[in-house]
Amino acid sequence: MHRSIATVSLSGTLRQKLEAVAAAGFDGIELFEADFINFKGTAAELGRIAGDLGLSIDLYQPLRDFEGMPEPQFRRSLERAERKFDLMQAMGAPTMLCCSNTSALAIDDPSLAAAQLHELAERAARRNLRVGFEALAWGRHTSLYGQAWEIVKQANHAHLGLILDSFHTLSLKDDPAGIAAIPGDKIFFLQMADAPLLSMDVLQWARHHRSFPGQGDFDVVGFFEQVLRAGYTGPLSLEIFNDIFRETPNRRTAVDAMRSLLYLESEARQRLAKPAVPQPVALFDPPPVPALSGLSFIEFAADEASAATLATLAGQLGFRRIGRHRSKAVTLYRQGEINLIVNAQPDSFARQRFEAHGTSVCALGVRCDDPLAAVGRATAMRSQRHDSPVGPNELRVPAIVAPGGNLIHFVPEALGANGLYEADFLLEDEGAGNNDAGLQCIDHVALGLALDQLDTWVLFTRAVLGLEPGESLELADPFGLIRSRGVANADRSLRLVLNVSLSQRTRTARTLSVTGGGAVHHVALSCADIFETAAKLRANGTRFVPISDNYYDDLATRIDIDPALLSRMRQAGVLFDRSPAGDYLHIYTESFEGGLFFEVAQRLGNYDAYGALNAPARMASQAQD
Ligand code: MG
Ligand code: MG
Repeated sequence: MHRSIATVSLSGTLRQKLEAVAAAGFDGIELFEADFINFKGTAAELGRIAGDLGLSIDLYQPLRDFEGMPEPQFRRSLERAERKFDLMQAMGAPTMLCCSNTSALAIDDPSLAAAQLHELAERAARRNLRVGFEALAWGRHTSLYGQAWEIVKQANHAHLGLILDSFHTLSLKDDPAGIAAIPGDKIFFLQMADAPLLSMDVLQWARHHRSFPGQGDFDVVGFFEQVLRAGYTGPLSLEIFNDIFRETPNRRTAVDAMRSLLYLESEARQRLAKPAVPQPVALFDPPPVPALSGLSFIEFAADEASAATLATLAGQLGFRRIGRHRSKAVTLYRQGEINLIVNAQPDSFARQRFEAHGTSVCALGVRCDDPLAAVGRATAMRSQRHDSPVGPNELRVPAIVAPGGNLIHFVPEALGANGLYEADFLLEDEGAGNNDAGLQCIDHVALGLALDQLDTWVLFTRAVLGLEPGESLELADPFGLIRSRGVANADRSLRLVLNVSLSQRTRTARTLSVTGGGAVHHVALSCADIFETAAKLRANGTRFVPISDNYYDDLATRIDIDPALLSRMRQAGVLFDRSPAGDYLHIYTESFEGGLFFEVAQRLGNYDAYGALNAPARMASQAQD
């Protein structure tokens, strides 16, 4: 499809926006009028700049408060439209967006609206331009696409068509199914936007909180599917008003924007394939989402000194030193199916990360049925592949760069639980120093993200890794709010938790200022008996975050809980959460270098969350240390 984006969606000057959009591979733009009004140059010059960058100017927007007006206002608006048509011809923009009237003067008369739009279309036709009519969700008399379509039909002019915007339809919970019945060539333009589900005034929601498809909660794929069923072949565009995008570096936003369209096309393509609906336009067709089955390893970036600290920590957590890498200063620790890799190799990727961010997690290893296909999917979705130097007799584990710069390796499932490590590591005596505390698997990895990275990560994990986001929660740190959202694969073998701090003063925010964002904040390890495991870990020297007695007093009033279990939890400092599907028992270690800490977790039944309700107890305890 012809991929386009509204200039309002990005930060920067108009020229910088165009450069970012072109670099991300877009075909065209929608020119937001304010961007042109403040542009130091003529319409013809703008047209040349866009042309030199390989971009078409697909739409000039918006013309406001036009239709259904008393005669004097209508005549003035026609005059205004003529001046905008002059500009459009000079810059080479073929279509103008006219959005439904919000003025108190607007008359509730669809026939009048149709007649006035007919006259506008007639003026446009004289210059071989077109006008598209869009229903705004807060339009005074026209707020639904169905109403706008009735007016367009009644106006009956070849140069007047409909413009669809997923935000206006989905924010009003209007049914997009009727779109499929509209003739595709009467839909002149398509704007796509997603959004989080919020209960607020629709205008405020639209102006500040839209996001790219795949970042929010709307069924944008279902909407797009209806437009394709209508036979639409025009531009697929993004019109995103978002406070955070307005300040995020525009190159990053443009990459997210392109990824969102590729994701949208590929998802819609799948829906239309069963049963097959013939498509007049080619939709993006990337390699399928890889089948992932949990985290195999976590790699720490370290130097010699912090590698020694991590060795002590691993011992306290019950990990055994398994071996040393064949060619690098890399050590492997293991417990159950969990592998911790400590990488202190000079001149390596890990060392670069260490020098930039201190001791921190620099890579995750995800088990995968087809690593090369996984990398193919990722690069198709605009992620970068990463190749590390490989020594003789070592395996190449394909990797990609995640947003923020850490690596995700795809570990071939076919190698079995330990195949990778047997190939790459000189294994030591497995029996030595066995402090096993019963830790089995990596339950989840929680990331601390800068505020402008949350939407990026939701889309990245969806489009590249096939993970689906869960509920978005707001948690109270003593110094501000944390927003937390889990993402997981279908069988829940791979879970990540994305945390952002809405305040500069929380512990999460302060960790970010050390690590630069996109950093692993804590790692949760699963066990079968949390009391037994916690006792062993304590005996090994692990220190846990102490929990206030008041927490347990309150817990008993909230949840009908066995008194014996409650007193065990109180004694051990174990936290508790219950959902209809099951229970979650967990405990947090004190943090070590860089603020990173571990969580030990036991899931009972089909509990499907992360004990987020208890995070405030941890954060408050950490703040009182
Ligand atoms: Mg719009
Ligand atoms: Mg957690």
